[in-house]
Amino acid sequence: MSGFFETRIEFLKGVGPQRAELLNKELSIFTYGDLLQHYPFRYEDRTTFHKIRDIRDEESFVQVMGKIRSMETVGIGGKKRLVAHFYDETGEMELVWFQGAAWISKKLRVNTPYLVYGKPSAFGSKFNIAHPEIEPLTVDNRKGGYLQPIYHTSEKLKARFIDSKVISKFQEQLLLVALPYIHETLPDFLLQKFGLVSKKEAMVNAHFPKSSEWLERARKRLKFEELFYIQLRLVSLKGSRKDLYKGLVLADASLLTTFYNDHLPFELTGAQKRVIREIYLDMRSGKQMNRLLQGDVGSGKTMVAFICMLLAIGSGTQATLMAPTEILAGQHYTGLKEYADKMGLNIAKLTGSTKKKERTRILAELLSGDIHILVGTHALLEEPVQFKSLGLAITDEQHRFGVAQRAQLWQKNEEFYPHVLVMTATPIPRTLAMTVYGDLDTSTIDEMPAGRKPIKTIHRTDAARLQVFGFIREQIQLGRQAYIVYPLIEESASLDLKDLMDGYESIARAFPDFQLSIVHGKMKPEAKDFEMQRFVEGVTHIMVATTVIEVGINVPNASMMVIENAERFGLAQLHQLRGRVGRGADQSYCILMTKDKLSQEARTRIQTMVGTNDGFEIARVDLKLRGPGDLMGTQQSGVMDLLVADLVQDGKILQAAREEAQQIIDNDPKLALDKHRVIKSHISSLKKSVTNWSRIS
Ligand code: ADP
Ligand code: MG
Repeated sequence: MSGFFETRIEFLKGVGPQRAELLNKELSIFTYGDLLQHYPFRYEDRTTFHKIRDIRDEESFVQVMGKIRSMETVGIGGKKRLVAHFYDETGEMELVWFQGAAWISKKLRVNTPYLVYGKPSAFGSKFNIAHPEIEPLTVDNRKGGYLQPIYHTSEKLKARFIDSKVISKFQEQLLLVALPYIHETLPDFLLQKFGLVSKKEAMVNAHFPKSSEWLERARKRLKFEELFYIQLRLVSLKGSRKDLYKGLVLADASLLTTFYNDHLPFELTGAQKRVIREIYLDMRSGKQMNRLLQGDVGSGKTMVAFICMLLAIGSGTQATLMAPTEILAGQHYTGLKEYADKMGLNIAKLTGSTKKKERTRILAELLSGDIHILVGTHALLEEPVQFKSLGLAITDEQHRFGVAQRAQLWQKNEEFYPHVLVMTATPIPRTLAMTVYGDLDTSTIDEMPAGRKPIKTIHRTDAARLQVFGFIREQIQLGRQAYIVYPLIEESASLDLKDLMDGYESIARAFPDFQLSIVHGKMKPEAKDFEMQRFVEGVTHIMVATTVIEVGINVPNASMMVIENAERFGLAQLHQLRGRVGRGADQSYCILMTKDKLSQEARTRIQTMVGTNDGFEIARVDLKLRGPGDLMGTQQSGVMDLLVADLVQDGKILQAAREEAQQIIDNDPKLALDKHRVIKSHISSLKKSVTNWSRIS
């Protein structure tokens, strides 16, 4: 079976040795299989035809049938352009070429029917299309109704006339002979469960979609398959490792039930309930939990954490939550204490600034088991911190902790490993990478608590500063509070600090009648806490701060955030910062202040922030801007060279693929069952095959 797809590409009709060499070098296409997996990267929508009269500005692409009335070359010297006056029965438009004018004008005929495709732009009262695709109208293209595949090529290939159209021809030829060799690679029960089309149909429609619906089906099928086989490999690796680590069975839900019935301050969202169930199943399973809890800022991870703590405590163990900063640990402590008190549980906080006497008491009570919940910073990882029985270790905003630190937490217990829950609100692509590669299972809160008003995000430049200050004043007079945030980037920390101080002074001058708090990284922890606390209690109106407030702070009455020099922040950071507002019932605002001139990339970041509140969307743009390598820390092969799936966009498919893979490995780790035969034989052909085709054949 695999033999056919390993046929060298030069043997395809119309290719030959010279073109084959180019395809090898430029696109890494060596075999039939490689070519078939060189999927189109987009499709031009040729399903509808437009009349010139009906063209509107906002249309991205139009397809028009018509004729050229006349052509002329305008401009002088090297800047000549070709203008063709193109008409149909409803109106006229211009087709413009800035390059190749001489060559193109020779090719085109006046008063001959053409099909034109391109992006219209308004020019005076008319539309024009610059560098349209134009071809004589034929019986075939007149029918329309298809999606034209567009393939990646290269300048070198194009110079040798191997453009997208030619590649499409190759594909057509190859598919004709390849069809009998394309076998199903997914078992029936999966095809049925997810409504997936067959491998054959998928391959044909990925290259030549019958319709946009068919294209969707084809892509869904190919994505699922790609992700499924990667997941299957990872899950079986992980499974064999998991057997090595036993976990405590924590299954006593009585505390949890009491809390649910008597003290739960709000209805949990469906997503919160779902992830709690997922975690619950892990904790009672007898195997050590290693789970990532992912959720956008404000999605309510803290409550989930508390409820899971109740399961641990109710089952006779202790729980701990480690946060990356003192401020965040403080916030968590305050938040959790409120619930813990209601439940009559003892909670303590241990950080670098905990006084010696207090520290001694905490250490003793931890060891005796009197403390049920310990919240803290890295200080938790230090040598003398010993629990009586640690059942659940939670770390918040894990991207700030190394793997080594997490492992250290586990060692707090000698007889068994505590269950580990890692919470993160930030770089979603990274967490997806972890799903693919990591030792972590993933739970996602993909739903916000009801009744949140979306934050309004506005971009302003320094010219509008007075208005912005006026707006802050209005909001504060309405009883709200505001954050004003300055960048603090390590390399220029002292310069940034000066920015912050200058800013603080001008804010103090502008608002002599308001109280200000100031928080930055160079302050002593006690001073920070003091300033924070005054803001939390509403004593101060404005919090002037660096990004130390990035994570975790929860002041529902603060409905306004101004981010200074917003162009200097990354997207993930802007999103985290903005997440500090929009936590109460009031309409919240985030104002991004920048200088006038912005780089293209900075502009994209700002526009993205203005355009959406959706952390997943923001992470996707971030991924695009920075590339997976940057975002994921290391170049992780296999994550990067996915053929059809997109780790960010296809999170749902990834999840489904993973769940299926998990279930299959759980029930039949050796893939011995008859219903898994297709999988087993596919995997063995994957192992044998040396080319890229291995992934799908
Ligand atoms: P994050 O996921 O960013 O850590 P938090 O846990 O800080 O979010 O929750 C943000 C806010 O939403 C808190 O004030 C919390 O009390 C509130 N909250 C959490 N879950 C719900 C819910 N189901 N309904 C209403 N409010 C909720
Ligand atoms: Mg949080």
